[in-house]
Amino acid sequence: MSLDLKVLFITPEAMPFSKTGGLADVSGALPAELSRLGVEVKVVTPFYRQVAEYFESQRKKPVTAVDSAKLWLGGRLQRYRVLRANLPKSKVDVYFLDFPALFGRESLYHEHGEDYWDNFFRFAFLSKAALELSRTLGFAPDVVHANDWQSALSAVYLKTTYAGDSLLGGARALLTIHNLAYQGIFDKGFLDSGDLTQTLFHPGALEFWGKINVLKGGIVFSDAVNTVSKTYAKEIQTKEFGYGLEGVLSAQGGKITGIVNGIDYSAWNPELDEHIPARYSVEDMRGKMKCKLDLQKRLGLPQDEGVFLLATIGRLADQKGFDLIRAGFDELLKLKLQIVILGTGMPEYHRFFEYKADRYPGVLSANLFFDESLAHQIEAGADGFLMPSRFEPCGLNQLYSLRYGTIPIVRLTGGLKDTIVNATKQSIESAKANGFGFKNYHEQAMLKAVRSALNLYYDDPETWQQLMVTAMSRDYSWEASAMQYLKLYKKTAASRLD
Ligand code: ADP
Repeated sequence: MSLDLKVLFITPEAMPFSKTGGLADVSGALPAELSRLGVEVKVVTPFYRQVAEYFESQRKKPVTAVDSAKLWLGGRLQRYRVLRANLPKSKVDVYFLDFPALFGRESLYHEHGEDYWDNFFRFAFLSKAALELSRTLGFAPDVVHANDWQSALSAVYLKTTYAGDSLLGGARALLTIHNLAYQGIFDKGFLDSGDLTQTLFHPGALEFWGKINVLKGGIVFSDAVNTVSKTYAKEIQTKEFGYGLEGVLSAQGGKITGIVNGIDYSAWNPELDEHIPARYSVEDMRGKMKCKLDLQKRLGLPQDEGVFLLATIGRLADQKGFDLIRAGFDELLKLKLQIVILGTGMPEYHRFFEYKADRYPGVLSANLFFDESLAHQIEAGADGFLMPSRFEPCGLNQLYSLRYGTIPIVRLTGGLKDTIVNATKQSIESAKANGFGFKNYHEQAMLKAVRSALNLYYDDPETWQQLMVTAMSRDYSWEASAMQYLKLYKKTAASRLD
């Protein structure tokens, strides 16, 4: 079935090729689902060293789509290749911009805690080269769908450089904000390297307090903007969550919507997951205990079926509430539980958890690296998942946890508020409860929620079991979210006639 709707999907990371966070999961799953719905979608993303390593590990090779691509940028002709592969288990073409000088690096965005100095140019290149590729392929998109600041300049180029282009001139721009905290702020001097005229440097376009704000440019030049949950779409229009862009966002309020992410059940599903030692389902949960014992063994924790295993996975950043976890950690350690952490991020948290792990070896396992496989094993083996985020655009880990029967304990903000129902007498009776939530951003509020979870786990296993069933039964597949994107594409494409 074809809908005659063409979408150019530009993203700085996509699973299974490259990943630093949730955006990669989204970019690896949403295009495939859209294609199933009949949308003709092409994905464009950089060919990082990580991507090359992925292909090597799979003993596969992408094909060459354009051998000698050229793009005028930064006052000179840039030369590179474009490679192509399929998004696994789908017909979607993914195009990789193979430009080693820009993308053949250790990491995606930064190294040793420092952003790459030329990030403005690297992602101006991604944004413009993606549009240029569309022209080379003769692919006339109805919608150019950019994701986060790294591809947001595509909206600016589309409406300026390519405004009169016969192929791209009619395309509309959609920007999805996966995290407003990252805006791409640069010194004014970089404008030239993106071939953007100084006339764009004013508060109604790219300027933000004397600097370039790439995300702001994307917001202003896009025909539609969305974020990854309904609550976050509202929150970012307020001072507390707007990171200085609340004014711009609320001025554009009419074009900002929220669509919650789905999860990829072919990757995150305890019935099929090849990373975990035993598979299980809501009908037969026996495998979960094996996963727990196995995880304890692997991480050097005492193997104990009956102790509450509390896990957290994520970037070690204040956003994820690690300042609360640190502040409440000693109290947490007094409770009857084991704690497993998987994450990388701010050096101060690395130091903190290393120190604590040394002191509490039988209680705390701190895994301060990136390990996709271990993330699956933790989701399967844990009893509770702690996610006390300061803000959370959507959050994927709580959705993975639900599927794995691992009860989320969250701060009720953004996507966490939209997906987690706090266990109260009433919500338990109506079989809606699927986790524990707290509102105040304070470690005592977090500790109270953890204690409530522990009390239920130890004192009322039957109700705990009910929570697990509710959690595991809820469907958060991409299908429903993709349908909403389809609606948004249609609406955005139609706005062309306005
Ligand atoms: P964000 O995108 O803000 O980082 P999300 O919860 O939306 O947060 O998604 C984070 C994704 O990154 C999840 O798939 C999570 O499992 C994964 N992840 C984060 N840190 C690690 C790590 N150290 N090892 C493995 N996976 C990780």
